[in-house]
Amino acid sequence: MPPEEFRRWARIAADWIADYHSKVGSLPVMSQIKPGELRASLPPKAPEHGETFKAVLEDLDKLIMPGLTHWQSPNFFGYFPCNNSFPSILGEILSAGLGVQGMLWATSPACTELEAHVLDWMAEMMGLPAKFKSSGKGGGVIQDSASSAVLCALLSARERATNLASNERGCDRSLTVYASNQAHSSVEKAVKIAGIGKQNLRLIETDERFAMRPEALATQITKDRKAGLTPCFVCATTGTTSSNGFDPLSEIGRICRGRREESARRKRVRKRTPHLGIWLHVDAAMSGTATICPEFRHFQKGLEFADSYASNPHKWMFTNFDCDCFYVADRASLIRALSVLPEYLRNQATESGSVIDYRDWQIPLGRRFRALKLWFVIRHYGVEGLKHHIRRHVALAQEFADWVGLSDEFELLAPVPLNLVCFAAKAPRAGRRARNEFNAQLLDRLNKSGKLFLTHTILNGCYALRFCIGQTYTEREHVDEAWRVIRNVARELGEEKGAQARRFGGRKISQEN
Ligand SMILES: *Cc1c(COP(=O)(O)O)cnc(C)c1O
Repeated sequence: MPPEEFRRWARIAADWIADYHSKVGSLPVMSQIKPGELRASLPPKAPEHGETFKAVLEDLDKLIMPGLTHWQSPNFFGYFPCNNSFPSILGEILSAGLGVQGMLWATSPACTELEAHVLDWMAEMMGLPAKFKSSGKGGGVIQDSASSAVLCALLSARERATNLASNERGCDRSLTVYASNQAHSSVEKAVKIAGIGKQNLRLIETDERFAMRPEALATQITKDRKAGLTPCFVCATTGTTSSNGFDPLSEIGRICRGRREESARRKRVRKRTPHLGIWLHVDAAMSGTATICPEFRHFQKGLEFADSYASNPHKWMFTNFDCDCFYVADRASLIRALSVLPEYLRNQATESGSVIDYRDWQIPLGRRFRALKLWFVIRHYGVEGLKHHIRRHVALAQEFADWVGLSDEFELLAPVPLNLVCFAAKAPRAGRRARNEFNAQLLDRLNKSGKLFLTHTILNGCYALRFCIGQTYTEREHVDEAWRVIRNVARELGEEKGAQARRFGGRKISQEN
């Protein structure tokens, strides 16, 4: 494609994106296509001869669009948000245009230096302890996801506990890993990948606010040590995916550190004993963004105990996927765990030891210029602008939670610390099973209506609808309308169920309006 033609199509594509964002609120949020439907409409073989770009773009509208769930819709309230913004999209386009590969400082110095710098900005914006900044022994890196971040953290922890990199026989001890029973599934995945063994993953019980019970953690650690195992890694979560629970970092941190100090004392006696302290990783995938506002920083009290930390601007910070900010307090074990240096990558800058080579901070070798979009977003909104939108989202969610709390037909199933509301229709005369079924059907009907999109979780055995506010274009009117639709659909469903129950002589299920 010659530059002149690119110019023309790039303008058309930019218009396409701008139009899409202008109308996304009016599209049915959840894709309604059936499994295999898109593939059946595509040719079985790749085209032998090149096609016009016009034909390709037409197929984007005709074939692809119906198969999309519109994550950027202001009526998207499911999972956690994955919002974006025009400055971020521009950063992504320019990054693609530059086509830079940033595996080493030497392969494009600006790619590494901008990343290290913007991650220092982010550390300060989120009120992280100074040890996570690149000026000391620590530093930040952009990972593709919070899942990669927790894997890298676990590999660093294993390295610190076992000196695996210089131990040719491999790991000679049974390591144990801890997270709450509300932790994200990526912890289990990391344990699987790292070969820790699922039987060595301890899911610690949580309290009524879905936060890890530190005393249960301490008991389990003591028990494991007595059994000759080596506790090596704790993943605490600030803002769990299921219900936005916050683990108490100070208590957990003290449990991890207590042993570390003891081990340091022992080290003086037996010099070659590996580090026995427990690595504390803090997973703040979505809620880390909230800490840009000082009033939400109390959720991360105790973060000074953490060895590593991760937050995803690609969830709630207007930066399109993928962009996870991962920090370590001491980069030594991360780099020891992940560094390789084949002859063909040797260069003077690396040998000098004065530069960061990010290939040693992540699983893959190659990396994109992701700092560009993050830099654009921060410069476009400014810290004040970001705070404004975060506060707006939290206020809307709090208002929604008030409506639920005051309603006769619905109830809250978890505290609402920030922007996630977990709730359910009461269905007062039904048992738990029928109630869960009612709420599952309610969710299905809401999502099939196309008017909004929610997801669910199970909390203490109860089916809960999850309503998370964090989309760039979500305004009060969308939340108002969502609440209206939810109540109407629940009433309809209740009436139908009531009629059905009467017809079959059974109990009436939910309605009383
Ligand atoms: C979303 C989420 C993750 C996973 O995020 P990815 O970036 O998609 O890997 C991990 N932990 C928590 C708490 C999350 O909410």
